[in-house]
Amino acid sequence: MRSPYFDDGHAVFREEVRAFLAAEVLPYAADWENQDTVPGAVWKLLGERGYLGLLHPRAVGGGERDLFTSIVFLEELGRTGCGGLRAAVSVHAYMATHYLAQVGGDDLRRTYLAPAVRGERLAALAITEPGAGADLSGLGTTAVRDGDHFVVDGAKSMVSNGMTADFLVTAVRTGTAVRSPRGATGLSLLVVDTALPGVARTPQRTLGWRSAGTATVTLDAVRVPADRLIGRLHNGFYYLMRGLQLERLVAATLALGGMDHTLDDLRGFLRARTVAGDALARKQALVHRVADLATDLAAARLLVHHTAWLYAQGELPAVECSMAKLHTTELACRLADTALQLQGSHGYVESSAAARAHRDARAATIAAGPSEVMRDLIGRAVLNERATHLL
Ligand SMILES: Cc1cc2nc3c(=O)[nH]c(=O)nc-3n(C[C@H](O)[C@H](O)[C@H](O)COP(=O)(O)OP(=O)(O)OC[C@H]3O[C@@H](n4cnc5c(N)ncnc54)[C@H](O)[C@@H]3O)c2cc1C
Repeated sequence: MRSPYFDDGHAVFREEVRAFLAAEVLPYAADWENQDTVPGAVWKLLGERGYLGLLHPRAVGGGERDLFTSIVFLEELGRTGCGGLRAAVSVHAYMATHYLAQVGGDDLRRTYLAPAVRGERLAALAITEPGAGADLSGLGTTAVRDGDHFVVDGAKSMVSNGMTADFLVTAVRTGTAVRSPRGATGLSLLVVDTALPGVARTPQRTLGWRSAGTATVTLDAVRVPADRLIGRLHNGFYYLMRGLQLERLVAATLALGGMDHTLDDLRGFLRARTVAGDALARKQALVHRVADLATDLAAARLLVHHTAWLYAQGELPAVECSMAKLHTTELACRLADTALQLQGSHGYVESSAAARAHRDARAATIAAGPSEVMRDLIGRAVLNERATHLL
């Protein structure tokens, strides 16, 4: 499809990524999902190809490519139909390491970011806790300064890549929690090496996204060198609010690719399956449902690409990022549900692409900010007239 956002270079890159994923990922992705992990060798391959550092600076081995190169990569990653892999890779390359690239000092970049870009050290983002998720002001994991270390105590949950990560970009409380209109105070970001004494991980078996190896992590008097602080003390909320916009844009883009995959799979089934001597693809009731979904997907793609374009201009389009995330991830649930329904029992078999899409799509309306929080942000912006350009 012709688009004002992509040039010939992006088209060539898309073919390259698609061929790589077809050869190195698609034949094995179902096994990784069953094994709850993405093997280390795959991370190295992704690193060698430069796919783990497309946005990161050249100084750490990244590609410093434009945002739409990443959009191409993420759409193609989504099109593998493997939610666990796409969560694992996006958390590593666009979420956890994003903070190191944006505000990490030279030493942190050398020690953690550069090997992460090469696929040699795996990153995870540890924000959510058993007692607090969407509401960051409720985070309770503490980091108390003791000489040239922080002593970290607490627990994190739903950490994607948690079982295999070499380090966690961790939200910790370094100051008092005060709810203010400007957000949650007293939070900082710290790199916690998972090899440190006091770090313990337990697998959390999730409904979908299984190869992301989700874990709860307990942190028991973990002594973290003070120079592992990312950016400035107590500025964690501010960094997270900026990082979350990219996270939401990435989630929306992955959902687009996931929907492409689900729709492709459904198309193949409806064409091949005959009922009472006629292909299902010729039944008007089904044709219209597919038409509606394809139309919604096309509109969602425009919203995501436009949001990416705004983001690439250096704006921080928070409302559009929330809209893109809300709309695409909820549409992906509807599309997966219809795809499963229209494939009858074939879609209900656990190993089917429709069943996997169904499980995986559910995760994305919760992770990176639940739909209710997205609606809250969008609704408040519209009512406060901060988003009149959208109306
Ligand atoms: C598959 C998956 C992977 C994840 N990966 C990571 C990860 O790598 N790192 C990480 O730190 N976290 C991760 N998360 C956690 C995710 O960010 C949280 O689930 C999310 O922020 C919501 O927090 P919670 O689950 O504690 O729900 P809660 O905050 O307890 O909220 C429960 C529900 O209440 C509603 N709700 C909450 N707040 C509001 C509000 N303000 N207004 C109206 N309704 C509201 C929503 O329906 C929400 O789903 C992951 C989650 C999933 C599902």
